[in-house]
Amino acid sequence: MKPKFSHYTCSLCGAEYGPEDVTYTCPKDGGNLDVILKYDEIKAQFSPDKFMTLPEASLWRYLNLLPVEDPGGLGTPLRRAGWTPVYKSARLADQLGLQHLWIKDESPNPTASFKDRASAIVVARAAQIGAEITVAASTGNAGAALAGMAAAVGAKAVIFAPKTAPPAKIAQLIVFGAKVLLVDGNYDQAFDLSIEATHTFGWYNRNTGFNPFTAEGKKTAAFEIWEQVIRRLPENGKRLTVFISVGDGNIISGVHKGFKDLHALGWLPVIPRIIGVQSTGSAAIANAFHRGDEDIQPVQADTLADSISVDLPRDGVRAVRAARETGGTYITVPDTEILKAIAELGKVGIFAEPAASTAYAGLVKAVDEKLVAADDPILVLNTGSGLKDVKAAMQAVPEAPIIEPTLDAVRKVLG
Ligand SMILES: *Cc1c(COP(=O)(O)O)cnc(C)c1O
Ligand SMILES: [Zn+2]
Repeated sequence: MKPKFSHYTCSLCGAEYGPEDVTYTCPKDGGNLDVILKYDEIKAQFSPDKFMTLPEASLWRYLNLLPVEDPGGLGTPLRRAGWTPVYKSARLADQLGLQHLWIKDESPNPTASFKDRASAIVVARAAQIGAEITVAASTGNAGAALAGMAAAVGAKAVIFAPKTAPPAKIAQLIVFGAKVLLVDGNYDQAFDLSIEATHTFGWYNRNTGFNPFTAEGKKTAAFEIWEQVIRRLPENGKRLTVFISVGDGNIISGVHKGFKDLHALGWLPVIPRIIGVQSTGSAAIANAFHRGDEDIQPVQADTLADSISVDLPRDGVRAVRAARETGGTYITVPDTEILKAIAELGKVGIFAEPAASTAYAGLVKAVDEKLVAADDPILVLNTGSGLKDVKAAMQAVPEAPIIEPTLDAVRKVLG
């Protein structure tokens, strides 16, 4: 079968590899590989208005811009990943003194996080290369997404997760029928172990910042932002600013790649400004950005936002560039602000897990520090559902009173 993409390019040394020549990272330096599409062919065949093959309300509407074949799975959750809603929240905007604020909510994805985008594409790739077992190391969401997308099409998954992952995420992994191995260690140790196991047992590995296809799935969020928001921006000459929570740095790199693809096709004249937000307790990428280099130094991650708790981010270099090349920046926020952001988003009907509310906490700080102007159009990505980590949610809000089953008791509480 003719490959749907032209080649891979190493993000560190620039070496190019044919579609069949490599599977994961650059053999020379371990750099992450960018998938380079056949832009001229795509441009000749499609226009911005009719480039989607299918009228599908999912990321598969962009099949022609993805490096995989149609994976089938019609009528299964695999076909429901992506095409998430964008909410315009006037109340939050008012509160922050902003005029144009959108929240793109990833919690309606089939396994309730942004990670379904990457896992859907990796499951398609696995089928295409005849891989029988796909493995991932995950703090929870990537694993749940792989387990769920694999289950949707009857494929097999093995997941390595730290045993400290929130119970809801572990429950999802097991319910979806994956082989689940809880590692008595942190995410970084689970990551390294999963790679050793991949090489030893001949599995296909989905790991973030390792498998080049995850960013290709994540880029579909940029396509949606382009369709849902950018093409309808207010005519004030301001480009969109996008706030993204960052752990390994693969979401921010993937979204940047999506905008770059559209730009290369001539369909997006100006790339949005991208602002990455990390927890102060897990800020390796923000540190490199503010030092002014791309040298990602590991930290001892300590944050309640488990999905962005990473010692050594695996996609740090491209994540630094996503902000630098778009005139963006990196912001860090403490766990207290991350919890506050859960409560703020809740007031407009959006339930975020800590790693997801981190992006909104970053916007609050950006407004405080005047990094954004009142008339800047702004989009905040809400990457995962609050149901993923109920314990953290309970820390974000006051407890509800327990009362006797009498009206008197009700009156007393209402004061
Ligand atoms: C994975 C994840 C992130 C961060 O993505 P990276 O690619 O690791 O930077 C943010 N929020 C949620 C909910 C996630 O699951
Ligand atoms: Zn290289």
